[in-house]
Amino acid sequence: MQDFTPSADVVGLYSCGPTVYSFPHLGNMRAYVFADVLRRALRWKGYPVRHVTNITDVGHAVADSDTGEDKLEVAAARERRSVEDIAAFYTKAFFDDLAALNVLPADEYPRATAYVPQMIEFAARLEERGVTYRLPSGLYFDTSKSPGYGTLAMMDVAGQREAARVDYVEGRKNKTDFALWRAEEPGVRRAMRWNSPWGWGAPGWHLECSVMSMALLGEHFDIHTGGVDHSELHHVNEIAQSEAYLDDGLPWVRYWLHNEFLVLNNAKIAKSSGPVPRLADLVEAGYHPMAYRLFLLGGHYRSQLDFTPEAVDAAQATLRRLIARVEPLRPFVPVTTFERALLATGGAVDGDRAAVAYVEQLDAAISADLATPKILAALQESLRDPEISQEGLRVVVAAADALLGLRLADLEDVDRRRSVSDLDPAEVEQIERLIADRTQARKERDWSRADEIRAELEKLGVQITDTPSGPTWELR
Ligand SMILES: [Zn+2]
Repeated sequence: MQDFTPSADVVGLYSCGPTVYSFPHLGNMRAYVFADVLRRALRWKGYPVRHVTNITDVGHAVADSDTGEDKLEVAAARERRSVEDIAAFYTKAFFDDLAALNVLPADEYPRATAYVPQMIEFAARLEERGVTYRLPSGLYFDTSKSPGYGTLAMMDVAGQREAARVDYVEGRKNKTDFALWRAEEPGVRRAMRWNSPWGWGAPGWHLECSVMSMALLGEHFDIHTGGVDHSELHHVNEIAQSEAYLDDGLPWVRYWLHNEFLVLNNAKIAKSSGPVPRLADLVEAGYHPMAYRLFLLGGHYRSQLDFTPEAVDAAQATLRRLIARVEPLRPFVPVTTFERALLATGGAVDGDRAAVAYVEQLDAAISADLATPKILAALQESLRDPEISQEGLRVVVAAADALLGLRLADLEDVDRRRSVSDLDPAEVEQIERLIADRTQARKERDWSRADEIRAELEKLGVQITDTPSGPTWELR
């Protein structure tokens, strides 16, 4: 493990953001909860942070070789909407999920379409430096001119050349070479197009992160984050082009942090929206978004996490218990830094020693590569500890929540499962009519009809239990 030392008064933090052509799924959101914990950790240590998360609204090609159609254009054609509508709609969906997961807003959310002239300038400088070549399909970065290409992934470049998800590109010199500019094919007019020294077309995907991060954080900055998949391709290419552009012999970014994937073992909760569930699916199934955040924090960001209904159930139950336990302690005075938390406990000499020890445990855990499971464990232990004072406990809870972001200070109604009292009279009437029909069908020994009605009731979320005195029902 490396120690973190900032290079400037403000820590520059860049997180690769979403391509806004579809709903973000639960796995996508892990990256933003992880970056949020990192940001809270830096705040805990007293570092001012400037956080930038990009919105990719152009440039992400369907094929990984950066050729072919743009994901946004494909989605626009599929949904019969304009590219702008698609981008606006899914950007809002992304922001809704961030807010529901209590992710602190970034300082900037730059959109790729707003930076195309800068991307063209960037690519032109690379061309001047002689690290590119032109093909009819666009301008390409020549990765053989990049010393140490792929160091980030510690990859064996030759092996990666074979293994990469690459498509054949006519004339490309190395399989790892990537498009800086994607030229329009003859006779095809893109929905999103800009003029450039390489003809009409659109920028390559990797370009935007280099250009927008430098524009908003300066040429060199401290930390870059993203999903572990980016460490093999997107970030490797960002580094290659940025270091060629700067050409100053310094590493472009000093620290790279990648979160592992969410593994979907059981897609039961997925419902109709596709194989990978969204946050909205969980909420509809009665889970609180904070239960999903708690589930994520229960694993270390560099470990794969198994997403199962049982695990989310357990997180929801833990959240419910946590809220029940902290509610009587409210209100809390916010404590966002280690220093303030220590001060608030009254200090090690005269203050609450148990509280000081827990605050130190929190600090040790977050300092050890963001060990959120240990923070959760310390929080739970403090809540059971008979030695700690109520005042001290309030400080520990507020400090733990400054790091975890579970909204322990204000969260209510964790259990969103519907109860019968939420139904309107017409719904109750419909359910009772179906149950009466089912009872009638059973009397007439029409079992298939009875089963049909039960299935219909299940769709409405109704669970029937047959008792000696007749059927009873409840909502699942
Ligand atoms: Zn990126």
